[in-house]
Amino acid sequence: MNGDGHEHPRELLGSYLLGGLPESDGGRVRAHLDECPSCRGELAALTPVAQALSEVGEVGPSGLPPQSDPPPSLLDRIERQVRDEAHERRRARTLRAGLAALAAAAAVLAIGVGGVFLGRSLAPTAPAVPLEAVAVEELVPRTQADADLVAHTWGVEVKLVATGLEDGGAYRLEVLGRNGDRFPAGAFLGTGDKPLRCNLNAAVLREDAASFQVRDAAGQVVLRADL
Ligand SMILES: [Zn+2]
Repeated sequence: MNGDGHEHPRELLGSYLLGGLPESDGGRVRAHLDECPSCRGELAALTPVAQALSEVGEVGPSGLPPQSDPPPSLLDRIERQVRDEAHERRRARTLRAGLAALAAAAAVLAIGVGGVFLGRSLAPTAPAVPLEAVAVEELVPRTQADADLVAHTWGVEVKLVATGLEDGGAYRLEVLGRNGDRFPAGAFLGTGDKPLRCNLNAAVLREDAASFQVRDAAGQVVLRADL
């Protein structure tokens, strides 16, 4: 309480503007504002800052809308930040102190919301693509290769990892169908001793694919696999 018979809830104005007060405190602040020109003036001075801060928070790093219902612990932290700031400056409370409290509350809110976004973006959104490991036969010396298959609705994808293919040499991979048809899956350049990783797609369904082979520029088969 102070000399004129009521308590100015100035330490709550920042949280009030940011929507971080429980309804009981919010109602008390509203009732006080109705009768206190001094607090209305401080609220008016803080409002543009709060609006600017909330606009900054409109879209998070992942592009998702902000969490509309922050967890109670977050609200508690905002409230505590604002109270601590106000307590330190109780003897000389100024607009400057109010702005600092508001900025601190907004910083806590931003960190909390950022954490929410991070949690969402790290959450699995789809099951991992099932990979089918394939044994690859190397037909030229000093080559080493492994492959995984992915069965898509539109065809089969070969994820090839290889070392020892001639650096800069041109290679082609084709998938052979069970009926003998050939399905080109793309071309790539060898990388010598450095690991080569490429994903090649063929327009043949997994169940119709019998094998794949990789040919060099001269047409010699250098890698092959039964599927
Ligand atoms: Zn007041």
